[in-house]
Amino acid sequence: MALIVKKFGGTSVGTLEKIRNVADRVLEAQRSGHDLVVVVSAMAGETNRLVALAKGVTEIPEGREYDVLVSTGEQVTVGLLALTIQSLGGKAISFLGHQVKILTDEAHGKARIRSIDDHRIHEELRLGKVVVVAGFQGVDEGGNVTTLGRGGSDTTAVALAAALKADRCEIYTDVDGVYTTDPNMVPHAKKIDRVSFEEMLEMASTGAKVLQIRSVEMAAKFQVPLEVRSSFNENPGTLVTMEDKQMESRMVTGVSYDRNEAKIAVREVPDRPGIAGKIFTPVSQASINVDMIVQNVSKAGTTDLTFTVPQSDLTQTLNIVKKVAKEIGAKEVETSTDIAKVSVIGLGMRSHAGIAAKMFETLARENINVQMISTSEIKISVIIDEKYTELAVRVLHDAFELGSA
Ligand code: ADP
Ligand code: ASP
Ligand code: MG
Repeated sequence: MALIVKKFGGTSVGTLEKIRNVADRVLEAQRSGHDLVVVVSAMAGETNRLVALAKGVTEIPEGREYDVLVSTGEQVTVGLLALTIQSLGGKAISFLGHQVKILTDEAHGKARIRSIDDHRIHEELRLGKVVVVAGFQGVDEGGNVTTLGRGGSDTTAVALAAALKADRCEIYTDVDGVYTTDPNMVPHAKKIDRVSFEEMLEMASTGAKVLQIRSVEMAAKFQVPLEVRSSFNENPGTLVTMEDKQMESRMVTGVSYDRNEAKIAVREVPDRPGIAGKIFTPVSQASINVDMIVQNVSKAGTTDLTFTVPQSDLTQTLNIVKKVAKEIGAKEVETSTDIAKVSVIGLGMRSHAGIAAKMFETLARENINVQMISTSEIKISVIIDEKYTELAVRVLHDAFELGSA
């Protein structure tokens, strides 16, 4: 008998019929002798609708009330799933984040989980119930509702699996697993059987939204074996796990893209020590993640500082940066949202040379201009014009021979 945490994403619980499918699958697993904790997201499209409502009121909604609003989608689905399981003769109980004390920090909209109280869950499991937990939400020390960032139900699931010492964590979604690139963009993308935590982390952080970044970080930290699979069929999925020899022999594992970044350029910044700190310290204090940074000489004594942030943080970042730019005497602040980040990822980069060169040549052949570059040991990312995203992903996927012929 095993303790399994299963997480079902928005499309998997998008209608009553789909929730019934989830209930059937869960009860079947319980009948084969397993203890089941089930994490669900809001119904497909619901969180987007709630976010749009908040933005309809004000461009930068206040964090506490924003979280009260956008966390409600998951309250609907835990209730519906528990009711459905009961209607099928099963035993189930639903919990919201605060009821099982998914304790987080106070960073509304992108809170981090600190601890989970597993007592109540174990108690209910002992009574033979399926425990259904709302994804995406938690509570801070002050009792305020928090949310974990878009895609955060994945993180709820992995955190629960770690806290409960579950035997495994299964993420059910609308594709069969993790692919060499987004299968909805490149139909001949190939499903990857096994991928290392490290590669998955890079794929997630460069836009492969199939798993939220923090869920992968946490799975790696607590060694939670993670399986991504489809909620609509029984096909074997992708195992996200510790790296092995076979993984390292792949030169490139995947290509990802992210259209949700924005570029900010601070022009003609006086070139003095401490200036970068003046710009980036207040940005990071506002819990905004700066991704790429490039600094280059503009004219004598000044430099241009260009960086990217998530588009959702653009307005707030601009408010901060414009103020600092004025203080330090920079000439102007420019922004652009029609950019995309395209990345190639692979453990094999540690031992194979020439991957960057091949990437740049491939893009050049299509006349795609590279605006910014960043690299890690196993990843190369470029910023390009957004309109070439799909073309860039396709040609890189082909150039590295990732497709299924
Ligand atoms: P859920 O609602 O189940 O959490 P998401 O929409 O968050 O589902 O994530 C699944 C989607 O991730 C897929 O439909 C697919 O379009 C996208 N995706 C992007 N990159 C990849 C990839 N490399 N492998 C699989 N899916 C990917
Ligand atoms: N419902 C939340 C979202 O859409 C969390 C999730 O689906 O993982 O971002
Ligand atoms: Mg998701």
